[in-house]
Amino acid sequence: MCHACGNPSADHHSDQIPRRNFLGLLGAGVASAFLAPLLHAAPKGPPPKPRNAITAGPALQRLIKGNARYVKGTMKRHDFATEREALVGGQNPYAGILSCADSRIAPEFAFDAARGDLFVVRVAGNFVSDEGLASLEYTTAVLGTPLLVVLGHEKCGAVDAAIKVFNEGEKLPGHLPGLIDHLKPAVKTANRESGDLLENAIRANVMLNVEKLKASRPLISKLVEEGRVRVVGGIYRLATGQVDFLV
Ligand SMILES: [Zn+2]
Repeated sequence: MCHACGNPSADHHSDQIPRRNFLGLLGAGVASAFLAPLLHAAPKGPPPKPRNAITAGPALQRLIKGNARYVKGTMKRHDFATEREALVGGQNPYAGILSCADSRIAPEFAFDAARGDLFVVRVAGNFVSDEGLASLEYTTAVLGTPLLVVLGHEKCGAVDAAIKVFNEGEKLPGHLPGLIDHLKPAVKTANRESGDLLENAIRANVMLNVEKLKASRPLISKLVEEGRVRVVGGIYRLATGQVDFLV
């Protein structure tokens, strides 16, 4: 019997990692230089959800399995009443998701995940903004989340608008131009490729932002170099709900 979660198998946590010491996570130098003000926010004591204390590989497998249940319509029953008490004292999500804000894309549903499992940042066009990056730094560096996913989707209106702006000279009202500017690199990349322009731009936008996260200094780049964090992309298929991972 596992004393952590009651599982009958005593060794089923072989993929899990010990509770992370915040200073040890990044190396004392980096932590003291950049994150000392956040020390008070680092979780203390046992993880609220012991099953989430895993490395990136098992975390990705859990997302894949959860998405398969979602596609089949065999989702688990997530009982908030029992989770609520465990999550009062903190959180240890096993994946951070940078998703489009599109109402058809709901990461917790798409991966059949529960509260406390996913740290989700959403913006139309699923690009890395300064504030979104800071949020993902928080979940990786402070909460110990081992996996980040940039989640785009088919027929993304934001990417489609960017194509119309940069290729056809369309003008957008309000604050939309400022958002669309972030998608220009993906449109430029897709313009050099053959095939469906929108599909290529959506894929390019995901991968460009995966690379941006991986290279983000000083925190996430260091965690990636040390093998503590993995960053992957995904494309959500509207008709089926399937997420095709780009790893
Ligand atoms: Zn979208």
